[in-house]
Amino acid sequence: TKIQVGLLFGGRSGEHEVSIRSAAAIAQALKTEDNAQKYDLTPVYIHKNGIWEGGETAKSVLQQQTPPHSEGSGNLWDFPPEATQIDVWFPILHGPNGEDGTVQGLLTLMQVPFVGSGVLGSAMGMDKLAMKTAFAQAGLPQVTYKGVNRDKIWSSPCVFPKLCDEIEEEIGYPCFVKPANLGSSVGISKAKARSELETALDEAASYDRRIIIEKGITAREVECAVLGNDDPQASVVGEISYNTDFYDYETKYTEGKAELYIPSPLPDKIFKQVQEIAKQAFIAVDAAGLSRVDIFYEEATGEVYLNEINTLPGFTMTSMYPRLWEATGISFPELVDRLIQLGIQRHQ
Ligand code: ADP
Ligand code: MG
Ligand code: MG
Repeated sequence: TKIQVGLLFGGRSGEHEVSIRSAAAIAQALKTEDNAQKYDLTPVYIHKNGIWEGGETAKSVLQQQTPPHSEGSGNLWDFPPEATQIDVWFPILHGPNGEDGTVQGLLTLMQVPFVGSGVLGSAMGMDKLAMKTAFAQAGLPQVTYKGVNRDKIWSSPCVFPKLCDEIEEEIGYPCFVKPANLGSSVGISKAKARSELETALDEAASYDRRIIIEKGITAREVECAVLGNDDPQASVVGEISYNTDFYDYETKYTEGKAELYIPSPLPDKIFKQVQEIAKQAFIAVDAAGLSRVDIFYEEATGEVYLNEINTLPGFTMTSMYPRLWEATGISFPELVDRLIQLGIQRHQ
């Protein structure tokens, strides 16, 4: 009998639409001859309001690749009937409420295997401060950073200037101010002076309780895909280039604003170093199945700095993660097959 794969997509996050496109690509890959012999697909769509829906609605969202006109109705804790028939879940949810351990906790309670990181790896990989703490503990190279809770930013007018003084002293300009638990560059600003720092802190605080401030560097941006569980493998390294100030939301999602180079024309030694750091980053946060690790290469000094790990990276036909594996010799359908098998193995 075939393995029932529950494809869980959509979700309560700003990356809802990307999730739908990732899920459509995975659904397509499950229909190829080799995969269709092994797997049966059950799509389950999570509406923007958090309601789960299967059946025709989920199928049509996959087909149309756009959210339905009406929001989900019913109770949050009512799951579609087919959810009880799933042998392995494939959550392909980006950002908060899906990439962060919340859904992984639910699936763990359901006692059904699932693709990707568990609760710990997902939560660590979502929170930039937690992730950096784990990376530092593992001795991985990072830029100087500082964490702050938003009560310091929004509290009394005498605390705030002190905080800005501290940041200027410890980090300096330019610096990057980020909400700790987001993605797609949402809420991130680059500050080059005091007034910009003040605005950036206020902006980031509107998205998250936890804020991170980092030393801004001028560097090439490279990405490496990691696949596996306890003994993960690294793909070839890819590189992103763009003409904007940094890799912000618009550059990420506007066609033609950024170019991908696969493989990256990095010096051989750096290329290997990036792959090694990517695997160590994966292990440091206890990731599983898949992750995309983003790294800075500061050409002027020859230094490499680990930026972040993304435990459920974009998985559309044109996304970096599957393209990096394609270039490494693993086709999209084969990648989907491997991820499902890794999910099953991890839960045995
Ligand atoms: P997200 O999880 O939203 O992708 P990142 O931490 O990757 O957040 O930051 C988004 C982008 O901002 C990066 O791809 C890079 O272009 C820029 N950036 C972030 N931190 C730094 C830094 N310390 N120095 C230089 N550029 C940075
Ligand atoms: Mg990210
Ligand atoms: Mg990033």
